[in-house]
Amino acid sequence: MDNQNQPLIFERSREGRVAFSLPELDVPEKPLTELVGEAYLRQDEPHFPEVSELELIRHYTALSRRNFGVDNGFYPLGSCTMKYNPKVNEQVARLDGLTKIHPYQDEQTVQGALELLYRLQENLQEITGMDAVTLQPAAGAHGEWTGLMIIRAYHESRADFKRTKVIVPDTAHGTNPASAAVAGFEAVTVKSNENGLVDLDDLRRVADETTAALMLTNPNTLGLFETQIQDIAEIIHEAGGKVYYDGANMNAIMGVTRPGDMGYDVVHLNLHKTFTGPHGGGGPGSGPVGVKADLASFLPKPLIMKRENGSFGLDFDRPQSIGRVKAFYGNFGINVRAYAYIRTMGGKGLFQVSKDAVLNANYMLKRLSGYFETPFKQLCKHEFVLSGSRQKKLGVRTLDMAKRLLDFGYYPPTIYFPLLVDEALMIEPTETESKETLDAFIDHLIEIAKEAESAPEKVQEAPHQTVIGRLDETRAARHPVLRYVKE
Ligand SMILES: *Cc1c(COP(=O)(O)O)cnc(C)c1O
Repeated sequence: MDNQNQPLIFERSREGRVAFSLPELDVPEKPLTELVGEAYLRQDEPHFPEVSELELIRHYTALSRRNFGVDNGFYPLGSCTMKYNPKVNEQVARLDGLTKIHPYQDEQTVQGALELLYRLQENLQEITGMDAVTLQPAAGAHGEWTGLMIIRAYHESRADFKRTKVIVPDTAHGTNPASAAVAGFEAVTVKSNENGLVDLDDLRRVADETTAALMLTNPNTLGLFETQIQDIAEIIHEAGGKVYYDGANMNAIMGVTRPGDMGYDVVHLNLHKTFTGPHGGGGPGSGPVGVKADLASFLPKPLIMKRENGSFGLDFDRPQSIGRVKAFYGNFGINVRAYAYIRTMGGKGLFQVSKDAVLNANYMLKRLSGYFETPFKQLCKHEFVLSGSRQKKLGVRTLDMAKRLLDFGYYPPTIYFPLLVDEALMIEPTETESKETLDAFIDHLIEIAKEAESAPEKVQEAPHQTVIGRLDETRAARHPVLRYVKE
């Protein structure tokens, strides 16, 4: 971080300095009005920084170094599965045969791309235990909405119009109730019990003939496995609803168990989390949706199909389909990366991923449990939630500890989520980190817990090592200053 204090590009600007060198004009110069027309000419002077090419390169290089990603360091952001994105995926996604094709091309000329997508559909069916899969949705939340629209179409096809409610647990990811609302349902909360699992009595209370679906992650957002999942599914099915699996984070169960075997009817996956699509920068993502056979006719169209003669094509002949949810083939490049990942890992490899992800999380939980409150005592799955309630009594909040972690070069864990846990710190190490990395992070977090006792102001005033200290995050999001403002 040697270049943090370099001046911004506008401050480097010197009148008349340019970042190009072109040969002298050897044709008659035409007036701009003739080239673009009077109406299109700007009236005011543009205010661009005037810098040399080298200054320009230094500016962008300095900015790129301020970025933080999995390729820079440990990124234990709970519920986000910030695992390593293998570079071989990138090589595959850049193959000419996959990049130099166009979605308007005739099917016969893109058989390879269609076959890849078809195989990916099949692989995802096998991983989830579902009967059919669409690759169209562009993100997890988009998959949730698609899945709920399928469930809506299913109920309506049976002239069952009274199902207006979607049940979500109080630990659910925020996108679940949001997707339910956007799909036109009312979100109803089911409580968790003291073990962090769905309270079955409360579920029986809220499930009735108005229930369209239950949305439930398993392992849930506390990183805990819902051991009574089959009873949960039965309660919903008896009430006539469908059970929706938020499969954004499959990292704990691949090759171990499958939503389809647990009683789920619909699942979405985040290929940009579990299946190593690079993410965190705002996209593109991919959120395929899988369904059981009785819902398959409602999937978005077209689906990728294999014809009897062995060729691949797009199946538009789906009269009950909810329609298109994304143009062309979905986010093709992310689907290619996910396919490359699944094929390089193989079934055994994915099983090992889940085992290692769970082992890493439990190892960290165990080592940290003497220093932080642990609200739940059972083994965790791919992630776990600590509480900063002990440190809060010393005047140090979870936010302070997260900021202090920045000083040690880490991306902090997810904080204040799930809401159920006071001063929550949600840690997801993933399987791709070494024991040394985990130990170093644990040691730093323990050091911060000790600082909370001996030198709380050091934590309260953190970060000390970053370019920018604490922001008013709400103002930064609502009123971003995206242009240079001269002071
Ligand atoms: C990340 C996540 C989502 C949302 O996925 P996006 O691709 O960001 O829309 C939904 N549910 C859970 C549990 C998640 O972790």
